[in-house]
Amino acid sequence: MLVALVYLALFVAFGAWTLSVGLDVYQRRTDSAMVDFALALASQVDMDAHERIREDSQTGSVEYTRLLAPLEKMHLGMHEVRGVYTKRIDDDGDMVYVLDTAQSRIPELRERATAVTRVGERVLMYTIEPELVATVLSGKPWVDAESFLEGNVLLRGIYVPLRAAGGKVVGMLGMDFEESELRAIAAQWGWGLVLPAVVSLGLVSGLLGALVWLLRNELGIILAALREETIRDSLTGMFNRRHFNHSLARHVELAQHTGRSISLVMIDVDKFKSINDTLGHASGDRVLMMVAEALAQCARSEDIACRIGGEEFALILPGTDQRQSQVLFSRVAGMIRRPLGHSGDVGLALSVSAGIASLIPGEDAEGLMLRADRALYGAKRSGRDCVELAMPEGGTA
Ligand code: GH3
Ligand code: MG
Ligand code: MG
Repeated sequence: MLVALVYLALFVAFGAWTLSVGLDVYQRRTDSAMVDFALALASQVDMDAHERIREDSQTGSVEYTRLLAPLEKMHLGMHEVRGVYTKRIDDDGDMVYVLDTAQSRIPELRERATAVTRVGERVLMYTIEPELVATVLSGKPWVDAESFLEGNVLLRGIYVPLRAAGGKVVGMLGMDFEESELRAIAAQWGWGLVLPAVVSLGLVSGLLGALVWLLRNELGIILAALREETIRDSLTGMFNRRHFNHSLARHVELAQHTGRSISLVMIDVDKFKSINDTLGHASGDRVLMMVAEALAQCARSEDIACRIGGEEFALILPGTDQRQSQVLFSRVAGMIRRPLGHSGDVGLALSVSAGIASLIPGEDAEGLMLRADRALYGAKRSGRDCVELAMPEGGTA
């Protein structure tokens, strides 16, 4: 669950970060494109004619219309552009309006205009940001950092210098353009709207991620448990017959392939029926668990100890020859062998018998098992509590 929470927090942080970086990149690109457009427009303005526009009555004159044409084209041509205008620095050092697409004879422009200015209308320096004026007069473009609301649209202004023939800055060309929708939302609502959206997105995906993570873990555990169940014996916890068959076949095949030795020890508890009959089934079960414990203690990491029947056990010993197997088994037998009390005059003792077969070239798992089984019956016939070694040809040593 902690992992899921960390994942969620990371996702939210990452989402917010990407969004803000994305918006910044987008804004910078839009800004620089807009500045380029404005500079191109400014270079098209006939500054001599521009100087001659002085009175409001000149609005709509041939000269005014000619000067306004490229500005109108930009205003109409780009959806984002909401107004283009020029200002001149007059003799008092104030800015006065000269051209304004809001003054246009084109009705569409007028409809879209939010503020109609008059030629010669003054804008005092101190009503414009001093930094803006200083920047543009020094010859550099200015882009508003903050947007302003006009009607129901958020606008930002950019300003570029207008230069006289000699290169002197004599005015400025301004262009208001509409904010991108996302930025407009972010600007209007701050992160108040964007952040919850990102958080809820993060929440949903975080929860989904957590669910998948939990399911994957739970399923893994369930599957592992189910798998264990199918290969384990419920009483002793040893591998069962099913796993024995599978493992023996696999290991015999591998040994035939590599030429490595492998031995199989088949073990059967002696006179188990009388143990059951005398001490009871529950004691019989405990005896089986004792045998299992002894086998588990003697088995090495590579060995596979199984309970393959009621009181029958088997040891698969990869990389082990018959002699080594015999030594290992005698340790098991020694651990198991013990008196179990008396039944009347008859003394009860716990012991096991075993048959050991080692793989011969060309033999399969079935053949190996058959020889180990025969050896086990040989041990039983020899009086029990002993081990018989299977001969390669199927007899016993
Ligand atoms: P032998 O020395 O020839 O092996 O004699 P035995 O009595 O051990 O052989 P037999 O195969 O006749 O008896 C096996 C007994 O094991 C019979 C069965 O009731 C008992 N048995 C099988 N499974 C279990 C079990 O899970 N728990 C208990 N307590 N007894 C079991
Ligand atoms: Mg038995
Ligand atoms: Mg038996």
